[in-house]
Amino acid sequence: MKGRIPQSILDSLTDVPMPRGFARPAPAGTLRQGGFAIPRYRCGALVVGSGAAGLRAAVELRRRGVDVMVLTRSWYGGTSACSGSDKQTLHTAALERTGDDFFKVAEALGAGGAMDADTAYVEAVGSVEALAGLKHLGLPLPEDRWGGVLRYQTDHDAAGRATSCGPRTSRLMVRVLAQEAARLGVAGMGETTALRVLAAGAGRGRRASGLVAASPRARTGDNPFGLVLVECAAIVLAGGGPGELYRDSVYPPGCFGVLGLALEAGIEAANLTESQFGIGTTRETFPWNLSGTYVQCLPRLYSADSSGREHAFLASYYRTTQELASNVFRKGYQWPFHAPRTLDYGSSLVDLAIERERRAGRTVWMDFRRNPEGVPVDRPFSLERLDADVSAYLRNNGALQPLPIGRLRAMNPLAIELYARCALDLARQPLLVGVNNQHMNGGLAVDTWGATSLDGCYAVGEAAGTHGVTRPGGAALVAGQVMAIRCAKHIRARLSREPAFRPAPDRAAIAGLAAELGKSLAAPDGLDPDAVRREIQARMSDGAGFLCTAAGVARALDEARALNGAIAARGIRAAGPGRLAESWLWRQMALASEAVLTALDAYIRAGGGSRGARAVCSPQGRHVPQSRLGPLEEFRFVAERPEDRTVQLRVRRDPGSGRFTVRAQPVRPLGSMDGLYFEKNWPAYLTGEIYRSSR
Ligand SMILES: Cc1cc2nc3c(=O)[nH]c(=O)nc-3n(C[C@H](O)[C@H](O)[C@H](O)COP(=O)(O)OP(=O)(O)OC[C@H]3O[C@@H](n4cnc5c(N)ncnc54)[C@H](O)[C@@H]3O)c2cc1C
Repeated sequence: MKGRIPQSILDSLTDVPMPRGFARPAPAGTLRQGGFAIPRYRCGALVVGSGAAGLRAAVELRRRGVDVMVLTRSWYGGTSACSGSDKQTLHTAALERTGDDFFKVAEALGAGGAMDADTAYVEAVGSVEALAGLKHLGLPLPEDRWGGVLRYQTDHDAAGRATSCGPRTSRLMVRVLAQEAARLGVAGMGETTALRVLAAGAGRGRRASGLVAASPRARTGDNPFGLVLVECAAIVLAGGGPGELYRDSVYPPGCFGVLGLALEAGIEAANLTESQFGIGTTRETFPWNLSGTYVQCLPRLYSADSSGREHAFLASYYRTTQELASNVFRKGYQWPFHAPRTLDYGSSLVDLAIERERRAGRTVWMDFRRNPEGVPVDRPFSLERLDADVSAYLRNNGALQPLPIGRLRAMNPLAIELYARCALDLARQPLLVGVNNQHMNGGLAVDTWGATSLDGCYAVGEAAGTHGVTRPGGAALVAGQVMAIRCAKHIRARLSREPAFRPAPDRAAIAGLAAELGKSLAAPDGLDPDAVRREIQARMSDGAGFLCTAAGVARALDEARALNGAIAARGIRAAGPGRLAESWLWRQMALASEAVLTALDAYIRAGGGSRGARAVCSPQGRHVPQSRLGPLEEFRFVAERPEDRTVQLRVRRDPGSGRFTVRAQPVRPLGSMDGLYFEKNWPAYLTGEIYRSSR
């Protein structure tokens, strides 16, 4: 960043206060069910979740005249409001200077495989409307003097299509969207947890009809669990990712997502094998990604043993100081772990090295007060000896200060401000670092309108499994915006066709839920929710983290099945009515965990190899990462098979038996666009023909 930026500007981009005051909807009546009196709400569309995706869906629905209601555990508690990196990224088609090509953007989005080509294209095209809407609402995206949005290169992005308003970009998005939702009079219920999706009809006619949630404010003598019933024609699941799935995680605490909720309802999921892992500060301090300028300023990474002795561990991996420093830099735009980048002394060797230190019982630190350690057989670190691309970047950004903290301050003072807010002064102390789970690329399977396999139920944002194996950094937030707009259009069109959908509530499902909740309260032999949390998180991080083996995954799956069996038999204890929602969420997480492991186990058993941010390690693997001191045999890994790029693994839970099934589904092609002419295609828009499902 050139020149000094006044502190007030840095503050405004770092401290982002959020609006208050969503109107709480009024119940339309009471459902009397087995001695319970449950308030009954009615709306055209219910949005579950108030992150960037959910609020965008709510705003777009309301603008189109749909009677929409939001139900959320925490208005500003999700990943969008609470997470980020050095400069949180949005990845969109770039329209400045020579312009962009939507086909090329779509190609980049799906480059890692297993992504539906039609989804990639609609995300590319839709990114323009998504971004323009946010700008219109006041998102301060940086522009040049000609009105072009400033851009940079990010992960899995060769063209430099990323932009940002700083580390708090997604929080700023939530703010402008929340302000707009409030202005439009969107009603909502906070502190409310979705427990069960309701459906009406059977077979091909089965469709979503509502949802039961728990809301402390609804608790009364004859509604002791605080249940609320929402009856609606459409549900938009925007609950974010299952952040609580892993122990080693950079999600903010309390992100459960809606994967378990949806699986319980029999909704199909896609690409659950695909998640992102990379370096960040841990949840014990401040969960944040260490990408971009945090590593491009070339800080020192070192480890410390229990006696506090320092180890310059990276110097055992890279052959020269220049190679070491240049690869630390490259983690800036090659942030997620990627097995092929552990080869040829690439940047993911850094993640492997950090993990090996952790396994050896040492802690790893990132120090902005010291330059990288020199490799013993080489000369010390010097800004004069860096790879050409690294030198050019630092020179072009005026970042040739002698120490990393100076270079970071020159390139991105906001990155320093952010940690300062958590009493972590980068000029005085190093950061504790780990390789953490950050994002689920998979999720609920959807068509190009965000529609899931349950008619009338949509998924947007991280809840939707729209990404393929790799995704350019910033594509997550933008995909959420695009699909939120598209599902709003689809729902509007649908409600116009059938305005009076009002099925009777599924009393059996509600009674079953109330009975299960009652059991959690009454059962002294129910499982302890904290023990369930520890078990799931340890299993996922140790058995299905960024490094896994076939045997480890199979074992983890057996254990996950056993846990779900125990939960079915004994339930999860709740210490009181106020803890019921939490114990129910752990029940949902146990299902989500089994689903992920089922998919991963099936993938590996069928011969699937290392891809995305996961290495499948095996002595039979063809590739072995090399370090300066020799081959790292423990990380020998199986290569990806090209044919796996053309399919998605779809996972579904049978609501009757509780068993998960997996099937391979070829990715959807884009289809021909040859017949797109104005007069010929206008009628399809006017009549709503374009909203036909693409699934
Ligand atoms: C550290 C970090 C850095 C990231 N950096 C980037 C980046 O630079 N660019 C990018 O594109 N993406 C990035 N991502 C990913 C991106 O931030 C998320 O995918 C995105 O914010 C998810 O938005 P969302 O609206 O789907 O969910 P969230 O923002 O997580 O919102 C979910 C909402 O659902 C509610 N909810 C959840 N479960 C329930 C339930 N059962 N009942 C009721 N309500 C519920 C929550 O309270 C919350 O309001 C990053 C993620 C992390 C963790």
